[in-house]
Amino acid sequence: MRLSNSLTRTTEEFVPLDPAHIKMYVCGPTVYARPHIGNARSVVVYDVLYRLLSHDFPKVTFVRNITDVDDKINAAAVERGITIQALTSEVTQQFHDDMGALNCLKPTVEPRATEHIAQMIALIERLIAGGFAYAAEGHVLFRVQKDPNYGQLSRRSVKDMIAGARVEVAPYKEYAGDFVLWKPASEKDDASSKFDSPWGIGRPGWHIECSAMSDAHLGTDFDIHGGGADLMFPHHENEIAQSTCGNAGSHYAKYWVHNGFLTVEGEKMSKSLGNFITVHDLLSKGVKGEVIRLALLKTKYNEPLNWTDKLLHDAEKELDYLYRGLAAAEVEAGRSKIEKAMGSQEFNQFFSDTLEPLRDDLNTPAMLASLRQQAQACLPELIAPDELAGSRDRDVHCFMLKQLASVLGLLQQSPEAWFQGEGEDTLWIDVQIEARNAAKKARDFGQADAIRDMLKAKGIILEDSATGTTWRRG
Ligand code: AMP
Ligand code: ZN
Repeated sequence: MRLSNSLTRTTEEFVPLDPAHIKMYVCGPTVYARPHIGNARSVVVYDVLYRLLSHDFPKVTFVRNITDVDDKINAAAVERGITIQALTSEVTQQFHDDMGALNCLKPTVEPRATEHIAQMIALIERLIAGGFAYAAEGHVLFRVQKDPNYGQLSRRSVKDMIAGARVEVAPYKEYAGDFVLWKPASEKDDASSKFDSPWGIGRPGWHIECSAMSDAHLGTDFDIHGGGADLMFPHHENEIAQSTCGNAGSHYAKYWVHNGFLTVEGEKMSKSLGNFITVHDLLSKGVKGEVIRLALLKTKYNEPLNWTDKLLHDAEKELDYLYRGLAAAEVEAGRSKIEKAMGSQEFNQFFSDTLEPLRDDLNTPAMLASLRQQAQACLPELIAPDELAGSRDRDVHCFMLKQLASVLGLLQQSPEAWFQGEGEDTLWIDVQIEARNAAKKARDFGQADAIRDMLKAKGIILEDSATGTTWRRG
């Protein structure tokens, strides 16, 4: 597998620290608002990477955190007049529901920041002991000038960073670029966002959360760290600084993967710009989760993705086509043949080779093109009768289509359910009739009868005549 590594700015061969156990950490949501489709892009991209790694390696631990303590959360809770606890549990549930609708798998571990305060305090104490951090007026700050490697990820000098970023100038800072590890709570803060610490009652900074949670669940060194490109600086730069300075000898993550932005009319979709559409908005308008998912995967993960209505429309048409391919060959009678074919080493090798586009830095557009080819090979009207020689090949293509799609998290429902969902089960029936005709042409009468019986069991009666086949509900 090859991956674009932001740390080296090159596409590198993926060499795991331990091929028996792959470890990946991805920055998860700050739970103050329902996820928009820009947030969803990040989740779907790493879900595909997780699926591919799980296919290629025996064990994968995927950690994606929940940031449930943050200034934005405090502000949103005050604005809505509810407790932090109520807000974070509501939004966490919405996040799970919406990502579930996009067919995203649960990560192996989903740690919450509020459950790792002790580990954060311990890391801050190690940083202070090593001279990398200092306490001042209830705050603890990281001393960036003490870390000779600071800026290694974003490739900027400390001076440039200060000029380019909105760093807070504060009297308690030794240096303007120093960032917060711990900050004091105010009197009026909700009790569930305040924690006791050696520096008084307060709460952690955002960056220290990920350093502490990745260490708690993956150890100090792991393979892949992912997140949106907006997180490279300061968030990821600061994570590296904290973890490498706080854990002597650690390199932290080996590969840094960043997904590109989802944009609207050229601008990043974000809550603050107000140009966002939530996943929930689309779902409640009747857009299927699978359509949203495919729309997000049509562009390579590290390129910008401009969101338009046409994109959703095209994704829906593409899924119609892929499900037609599945429907054309998916009958019980074909199963045992497929399993036989699957048993052969050749088939496994063929299947594995077909995933190559995905191993090439997660090239989902190329992988989708390959799915289309598999679907095409299933559609009877596109196959010359002499190539039909039994339906074995078609069964294999159908099986391949489904298996390959599963690595993208697509085509996991039955074609019947897909078309019925659109109120178009007639299309599905038509495809079955086409498949039966093709089987008859190939003199595979067992298959043809199996299709007729399968339809009959669903209350659909076929009637053959000289002019063709019609159907009625029996
Ligand atoms: P946030 O809730 O803003 O911290 O974002 C959660 C995740 O979504 C982070 O990994 C962000 O990088 C990512 N993200 C936010 N907005 C976008 C966007 N417009 N396009 C792609 N990823 C985004
Ligand atoms: Zn993070």
